[in-house]
Amino acid sequence: MNRILAAAHFAASKHTQQRRKNDAATPYINHPIEVAEHLSRVGGVTDEDVLIAALLHDTVEDTDTTCEEIEQRFGPRTASIVMECNDDKSLPKSERKRLQVVTAAKKSDAAKLVKIADKTCNLRSLLADPPTDWNLDRQREYFLWAEQVVAGLLGINDQLDNAVRDVLDEGKQRLGTAP
Ligand code: ZN
Repeated sequence: MNRILAAAHFAASKHTQQRRKNDAATPYINHPIEVAEHLSRVGGVTDEDVLIAALLHDTVEDTDTTCEEIEQRFGPRTASIVMECNDDKSLPKSERKRLQVVTAAKKSDAAKLVKIADKTCNLRSLLADPPTDWNLDRQREYFLWAEQVVAGLLGINDQLDNAVRDVLDEGKQRLGTAP
């Protein structure tokens, strides 16, 4: 429990200057907290390393946090889950997106849980409150891509699988599938 609170505090200080891209410019930290809460409440996940990795999942990618820093504070297993969820920002965006699709199924079960919860929360946010500069085509494209990534992440936790299927279905109904 103390480790989880320490991770929430650590993530909050790392993301302190960041905002989501929605109209309300929600503080960024709302997102990792939502992902961890989804894993616990919907998925029934109790593995502390997974919940901590969920809280930290965007720190290395989006802030100055290093893998070593996470390893020192939260241990090697948490660090390795976070690194599995991390996109290599030195690559072009299209390549990062392609890699997410091809690497999803090869990830550890723990990383798959964090990734599937991350996608679920991102898709929900997109439907509820899309980034201000995303038109419908871009939203639809994101859903189609996310569905491909999710296909490689399914099969670890039924409740999390059902939750992501629900939001993918809702997206199809609201946005349609054809460009
Ligand atoms: Zn995320």
